[in-house]
Amino acid sequence: MSSGILVLCDHDGGAFKSTALELIGKARELVPATGGTITALVLGHVGGDGLPADQVLAVTGPEFGTYDTGAWTAAMAAAIAKADPALVLATASVLTKDFMPRVAARLGLGLATEVVGLEVRDGAVVGRRPVYAGKAIFDVTVTSVPALFTVRPNSFPVPAAGGSPPVTALDVAIGPNDRLTRVVETLAPQNTTVDLTEASVIVSGGRAVKSAEGFDTLIRPLAAAFGAAVGSSRASVDAGYAPQSEQVGQTGKTVNPSLYVAMGISGAIQHLAGMRTSKVIVAVNKDPEAPIFQFATYGIVDDIFTIGPLLAEEVKAALAR
Ligand SMILES: Cc1cc2nc3c(=O)[nH]c(=O)nc-3n(C[C@H](O)[C@H](O)[C@H](O)COP(=O)(O)OP(=O)(O)OC[C@H]3O[C@@H](n4cnc5c(N)ncnc54)[C@H](O)[C@@H]3O)c2cc1C
Repeated sequence: MSSGILVLCDHDGGAFKSTALELIGKARELVPATGGTITALVLGHVGGDGLPADQVLAVTGPEFGTYDTGAWTAAMAAAIAKADPALVLATASVLTKDFMPRVAARLGLGLATEVVGLEVRDGAVVGRRPVYAGKAIFDVTVTSVPALFTVRPNSFPVPAAGGSPPVTALDVAIGPNDRLTRVVETLAPQNTTVDLTEASVIVSGGRAVKSAEGFDTLIRPLAAAFGAAVGSSRASVDAGYAPQSEQVGQTGKTVNPSLYVAMGISGAIQHLAGMRTSKVIVAVNKDPEAPIFQFATYGIVDDIFTIGPLLAEEVKAALAR
């Protein structure tokens, strides 16, 4: 009988991301309900040092050097066949958005994407899923076995890295029909130090920032003080103040940080769609009627050019204490 949890563990050249630990931490909480053990699936790297899983399935080969839709689909399907889990967890990302629905279709399984909560209710795993651009929340059960879920980064606490689980190499047969596309070139994003979708703190600037220089002198230093990633509204991107890679919202990135600082952003529905599930939202806006204040945990009605530098100094001083 299927049991246990298979967790796709993201890494960067063999260095496991905090999202891998986050999912394993959650899996540890859920595994009493599924029975069995926790298997980490690692694609493109042999090893699992630092992963608090029970065992690792590692898939390597030339197809796994960079992301490849068909190869990753085939590998996930092979790992499910091998581990026979009751539950499969993967981080919600542009990659899983691409290949997890294919896995679900190929194996005839149910998939709930972008969940921000997972809990056991009456023996079943229930996912909490924002819908309609975050205006409503659905509780979703997946009735297939295994049940597939993708989870937004920063949804759960990240446990400490640790452990050296045994690693088994998994051979994946990749046929011509699995390789219908080919990555020709990979272009690194122009920005930043911290990946926006995984950042636990984000400082975003809106149209009020007025220029790219405004981002460089106000938003980026404030983000640096927090150790945060930089985000922006679409108005800032369209005006050329910030690169598209930093856009948050319906046509930008969906983020789920612990803290989201919105500087001079009105709170249009399309912006909210990308950041509404942030745990704490701080909004600075000189218009007390700005819609963002309906969603903000803390609001400051003032000029961003006054508040930004003060906030940066206070944060630096607080973090230095
Ligand atoms: C199909 C579609 C998709 C879209 N996708 C996205 C998306 O992905 N992301 C996104 O962000 N938007 C998106 N938009 C655009 C969205 O509707 C808004 O136009 C946009 O979010 C507005 O950006 P903003 O808040 O920076 O600008 P504005 O709405 O112009 O707000 C600027 C705010 O700054 C305040 N302000 C001005 N000066 C100061 C100051 N000195 N100090 C303090 N506050 C000040 C103002 O009071 C105002 O509230 C989309 C729109 C459509 C139609």
